Amino acid sequence: MAELGIPEKFINWIMLGTATVTYRFNVNGDYTEILEAKRDDVLLFSRGDQSIDIMLDAFQNFSKSTGLIMNPKKCKEFFGGMDDNTKSAVLLNTGFTEGQFPIRYLGIPLASKRLNIHHYLPLIDKIVCRIRHWTAHLLSTAGRIQLVKSIVVAITQYWMHCLPLPKAVLKRVDSICRNFIWTGVTVTMDWYHVMCHNIARPRAKVILWLAFQNRLATKQRLFRLGFLQHQLCELCEKEDESLDHSLFACPQTVGIWNAILHWMGISDFNNLNFDWIKRKVRGKGARMSLLKAVIAEVIYGIWVLRN
Ligand SMILES: [Zn+2]
Repeated sequence: MAELGIPEKFINWIMLGTATVTYRFNVNGDYTEILEAKRDDVLLFSRGDQSIDIMLDAFQNFSKSTGLIMNPKKCKEFFGGMDDNTKSAVLLNTGFTEGQFPIRYLGIPLASKRLNIHHYLPLIDKIVCRIRHWTAHLLSTAGRIQLVKSIVVAITQYWMHCLPLPKAVLKRVDSICRNFIWTGVTVTMDWYHVMCHNIARPRAKVILWLAFQNRLATKQRLFRLGFLQHQLCELCEKEDESLDHSLFACPQTVGIWNAILHWMGISDFNNLNFDWIKRKVRGKGARMSLLKAVIAEVIYGIWVLRN
């Protein structure tokens, strides 16, 4: 910070904020004594040779002098350009488990490749979930602007400190804020609650996200764009493959939904479509959470099947 020419006064303030974090726990109404923050996540980089041993030695020394001991079960190793034999030797030596990218570090996705648009979904989710909790009709326009300025912009800026945000993501954030400020409508995307707090795998959520926006490359769509000669459904070969047909109406997929929804104890799905999902998936609780995940995974499964 000193090298960047930040005045000493500011540096002291920042250091005060980052180096003197304390916690207090409330146990059955009584506060515990103030505890100093002593734990932090650390990223260490090393070459895949004896440097690992040297690093582990240094870590042991650090443990001896500070009393901070690492838990191998909570440590993960990430490899780049390494053969399987060396990998397993390193894993055996350190006792760590192998991690897979992308991971989230301090809320930000970390990946070895260029991030895809779906890696930014947590940002959109976070903003939408925040805005949903603000009661727009009780706020003046100035109040809404203030909330957007202080909360949404701060969340977005935190991400922008670490990553360049793609244009599409910025546009999405803009449109969410614009809708909230000018119309008071929390989110115009009425399917967002299906995405919010959905515990399905990211890849399933992306397909669900695209499906809700009718952006999946169905045969009907590709046919219209001139990429295909016919638009017959891949699975039943009887009807045109629209999104509704392939996901909900095709005889091949109806069976899958029947089985899964019966298993979930749901019987009112005669007219299964996106509107049904939006209506059905409302509310909180573990059951709703499971239903959201199941819907996302079934749609993903069907989409993979037809591909
Ligand atoms: Zn079909």
